[in-house]
Amino acid sequence: MTAHPFTTRHIGMDDGDVARMLETLGRGSLDELLDATVPTTIRQSEPLTLTGFTGAASEDAALEELREMAGMNQPLTSLIGQGYYGTVTPPVIRRNVLENPSWYTAYTPYQPEISQGRLEALLNFQTVVADLTGLPLANASLLDEGTAAAEAMTMARRAVRGAPDTFLVDADVHPQTLSVLQTRAEPLGVKVASVDPWDDELPEAFGLLLQYPGSGGAVRDLRPAIDAIHDHGGLAIVAADPLALTLLTPPGEMGADIAVGSTQRFGVPMWFGGPHAAYISTSEDYKRTLPGRLVGVSVDTKGRPANRLALQTREQHIRREKATSNICTAQVLLAVAAGFYATYHGPDGLTRVADHCRRLATTLSASLTAGGIEIVADVVFDTVTARVPGRAEAIADAARESGLLLRRIDADHVGISFDETTGQDDLEAVCAAFGIDPVGHHDEIDPPALPDALARTSEFMTHPVFHAHRNETSFMRYVRGLAAKDLALDRAMIPLGSCTMKLNAAVELEAISWHQFADIHPFAPEDTTAGSRLMVEQLEQWLADITGYAAVSVQPNAGSQGELAGLLAIRGYHGSRGDTQRDVCLIPSSAHGTNAASAVMAGMRVVVVATTDAGAVDIDDLRAKAEAHADTLAAIMVTYPSTAGVFEQGITDICDIVHEHGGQVYLDGANLNALVGLAQPGKFGADVSHLNLHKTFCIPHGGGGPGVGPVAVGAHLVPFLPGSAAAPAISAAVNGSAGILAIPWAYIRMMGGEGLTDATSVAILSANYIAERLKDAFPVLYTGEHGTVAHECILDLRPLTKETGITNEDVAKRLIDYGFHAPTMSFPVPGTLMVEPTESEPLVEVDRFCDAMLAIREEIAAVERGEVAVEDSALRHAPHTVEDLLVGEWDRTYSREDAAFPVGVERAGKYWSPVSRIDQAYGDKNLVCACPPPEAFED
Ligand SMILES: *Cc1c(COP(=O)(O)O)cnc(C)c1O
Repeated sequence: MTAHPFTTRHIGMDDGDVARMLETLGRGSLDELLDATVPTTIRQSEPLTLTGFTGAASEDAALEELREMAGMNQPLTSLIGQGYYGTVTPPVIRRNVLENPSWYTAYTPYQPEISQGRLEALLNFQTVVADLTGLPLANASLLDEGTAAAEAMTMARRAVRGAPDTFLVDADVHPQTLSVLQTRAEPLGVKVASVDPWDDELPEAFGLLLQYPGSGGAVRDLRPAIDAIHDHGGLAIVAADPLALTLLTPPGEMGADIAVGSTQRFGVPMWFGGPHAAYISTSEDYKRTLPGRLVGVSVDTKGRPANRLALQTREQHIRREKATSNICTAQVLLAVAAGFYATYHGPDGLTRVADHCRRLATTLSASLTAGGIEIVADVVFDTVTARVPGRAEAIADAARESGLLLRRIDADHVGISFDETTGQDDLEAVCAAFGIDPVGHHDEIDPPALPDALARTSEFMTHPVFHAHRNETSFMRYVRGLAAKDLALDRAMIPLGSCTMKLNAAVELEAISWHQFADIHPFAPEDTTAGSRLMVEQLEQWLADITGYAAVSVQPNAGSQGELAGLLAIRGYHGSRGDTQRDVCLIPSSAHGTNAASAVMAGMRVVVVATTDAGAVDIDDLRAKAEAHADTLAAIMVTYPSTAGVFEQGITDICDIVHEHGGQVYLDGANLNALVGLAQPGKFGADVSHLNLHKTFCIPHGGGGPGVGPVAVGAHLVPFLPGSAAAPAISAAVNGSAGILAIPWAYIRMMGGEGLTDATSVAILSANYIAERLKDAFPVLYTGEHGTVAHECILDLRPLTKETGITNEDVAKRLIDYGFHAPTMSFPVPGTLMVEPTESEPLVEVDRFCDAMLAIREEIAAVERGEVAVEDSALRHAPHTVEDLLVGEWDRTYSREDAAFPVGVERAGKYWSPVSRIDQAYGDKNLVCACPPPEAFED
């Protein structure tokens, strides 16, 4: 047993801190504070219990249990392919990126000045994708190949007017992609039709998806199919393997409009299905409808090149139900890893890996042919499909005897995909399973030349960054240099309301890189994945215990996907009762932007419900709208505690009103960190919720993903839960981002019911403490009935802005000079800052933040008193770079020292922002989304 229970490692406050904070608040005990904060109508009466254990496990004991489960997996060599391949994560990337808190604890780069390192890494990723696919604009990742294909389908539908609502899909597409497309198409009224674009005449349609190479391995000239869909006025989308594109003519050069795919095999483990970064790229024509986040280059106040997220007005935070997509959290950490893999190998290294795969495949093809076995395609990259009438099972079984997993396509076909980790031994074992001899060693047999139409002739990854870091010393320093530019949780508190940036403990991350969990193909036979499946089962049960729902599915790989899954469950439920007309989704005006975007994707019509001056759902307006739409009411989406950071007393009335009018209650569980152990949405009236395991349950935010957004439902919705037979596929893999589920598993196992409840209580205490310390300087916009806030609080800057011109953005940027990441800006109320400390922040850090905010208030006071003009203030010029302070004349109204070392800033350990404030508009007007040439950085 370790001396300290894990709760004391996870929770930043000790008993003495709690006592001090309660004193500041004038509360006698934590219970007194909670009684005043959480409505009695919803308060959980029994302590939280978790199925299967009572006491919290120590760190050692939890790891031991995980090791036992890992031992129940059998990570055989996968030759299954179908979108998931063995790959070598270079240790320098595993250790310095995937296992490095500077990278994994970062937040989404909405504050670009403190995110230059990861933005550059993402720009590299975008450049790799753009170069490989031959399409100039790539985004900074999507969730998986299946959902990326679905996003491309909706892009095409928006772009093409007048065509029938039909979307064509190559019969040789990965089956899991087809499932996700069908899920997404149905609520939108789109018909998905499977076609053989090489033999059939294409029907009229707004788009066509081709797989390249085909799921079965065939590499075909896509031009005739692309031309045919263009003749119909539709768009051509190509799902392409990025490794294959080092050898093959890129989709862009064949005329494709959009390319999508997975970058998993660029060094990211298969992880039983995810997380992996999918990509999407397109031409200039469609840049404004590109889903997800796009990194672009702009300039700072000194004209220096500076990276930031481009075209953000496309995002659902602004466009809500008119958004192009509901994607919020994506797969940033994995995109960073894949981009680094490409940077580490360079174009020549990637080509070598691709050539190795192709040699193995073509040597197998030749061997099979020589052995009298039919192969279905002559031109292949890494995958061979053999036609073996009636013998497929026997051959796959024989291969399994020697530790190899083949793809069991049907009774007559098996598929074999080679990858970076496979070699001659595997080739020979495959041949043995077929009862044939290999024709030779793959190193010695040159693969047949690719047909001219298919062989890549254009260069790619010519930018110097992909050539400069080939030795590990240089590469290590490049990675370190980028990380040093950024501010993540490893340097300071990230007090972002709604985002719950809590500790991601090292022990929680241990198991995810274990071979037995990492190197598992999502479609591996069930008897080889017993450990991973047991972990999923236990985690789903614990999440059901915590939320009070009947069942949970971890399949959705972000909160946005959990929202869609939950709304589709509601849609399925209404449909099963013959209520197909129920399509109105009530959404409070204060809701997160993903809510409205998800409702539209689920085929619902959004009706906005007003918010009161107190930030609560306007019950009268809700009742009026529920009545007006009684016949068509499908659901309400309500966040609890509210996005205003308070426990609304009216939540049970809200549930009742919606139920009375035949609707279902979707409770957005992103704020579950205020509920765990204290109240259970499944018990106080909600029908379905999504949770964000990357908020409440310690999966690191990764700079914008990975995430896991499980959906939790009441008993009546269980048949519609993803993974159930009748339910639609939300993600490409059944267990979504299964590879990172050991993190929430370990967190729950080590905290136990009591520890989790303590965490919630301290999170609420900490938010109330901050509200108390700052309320005289910055009014706290909303409080609950007894004057308390939930786990976050909104600071209202608007009165000061009106009076002085100092904006919430000025405060956010000045906080950088004080060494802090800004709170959430302008959500849910424009002009405000929303602060969420979480239970993990120690009191010294919380106090340091409050002190910084109070010092900033003094700086604003100087403007208020007319001593400094806004334009001349340190606030408006923030953040200050070293260069600004040291180079040239200093002609400001404040001193260099006040700029760099305002009150309370520790001089030796100061964080320096590498750029000054970034010009957003310039970057959108001059859109550059790939690595700029080195000359751009010259003086
Ligand atoms: C974070 C959040 C979401 C979306 O979650 P993602 O994982 O980013 O898709 C939805 N609703 C609320 C209230 C959130 O805070």
